Amino acid sequence: MPRTQSQRALARRAAPQERRTTQPVRLRTGALNAGLATLAVSVLGLGVAVSAMSTSSAQDTHVANATSSVVTTVAPGVKQPSAFQRDSETISRSNFRAALSTTAQADALDPEALTEAADKAAEPVEIDRRAVAARAALLAKESKAADKRATKLEKKKEAAEKAAKKKAEAAKKALGVATMPVKSYSIAARFGDVGAWARYHTGFDFSAPIGTPIYAPTAGVVVHAGSGGNAGGWAGNYVVIKHADGTQTLYAHMSSISVHSGERVSGSDRLGQVGQTGRAFGPHLHFEVYPPGTEPGDVYTAVDPQHWLNKLGLRP
Ligand SMILES: [Zn+2]
Repeated sequence: MPRTQSQRALARRAAPQERRTTQPVRLRTGALNAGLATLAVSVLGLGVAVSAMSTSSAQDTHVANATSSVVTTVAPGVKQPSAFQRDSETISRSNFRAALSTTAQADALDPEALTEAADKAAEPVEIDRRAVAARAALLAKESKAADKRATKLEKKKEAAEKAAKKKAEAAKKALGVATMPVKSYSIAARFGDVGAWARYHTGFDFSAPIGTPIYAPTAGVVVHAGSGGNAGGWAGNYVVIKHADGTQTLYAHMSSISVHSGERVSGSDRLGQVGQTGRAFGPHLHFEVYPPGTEPGDVYTAVDPQHWLNKLGLRP
């Protein structure tokens, strides 16, 4: 059949169109999956090739470092994919991830690691427990020490009280029993009486027979026993006793003296006997009291014996 030129041209134009429409059909049915797989492998291969290239470029300057960096960037048990190993098992990202996660899970479930972790977690509690125990022990120790101190203090107090009581008893015993210098007497003259004396009577006159015992009214030390001294002459044989508060008492006209100078006496101790020695009109005890700081024999420094005897509970 004869065709015109235009008809042929039309046919030529139509033929490629027909071919073009059939070719995609073949691709879709036959080689589509293979083509996509090739494309995927090519992309992955390109990625590996790029990383291998960067490694190679690093190897140019740091050969040793490049080797170690390859090893350390890969998880243990996972094979480092090589640029030349293109099989899907090695280079598959999901496989790589699976390997990584499996390794991580294995690490987490490692009984040894778990035990170690448990120990580490328990450690602070253990330390706290020890600290609490130490604190408790310290408190107990301190409490015990406080008890000990209290007991010691109590004992000390008891001892002090006992010592004070003993001292008081000793003092009382040393003081003796307060006694009138003459137990049986009559008052012949009192302090301040005037008439028979140059100015006034400087003490008490206890009238009593010669030989009547004279007693120390209270405790003291004999500071004079004899006829000499500051009151020598008018007092005859006399005794002076110095008492604890510094007061001194003088006993004059004695017929006999039974103590000596420096002797310690208690209340009711015998000093001698009533006499009539010195300047005296009849047997009697002339008794004087000298306050602290005065000199026995300086008669006008003497005070009324009444107050001193009253203080001892004695009422002449
Ligand atoms: Zn007198």
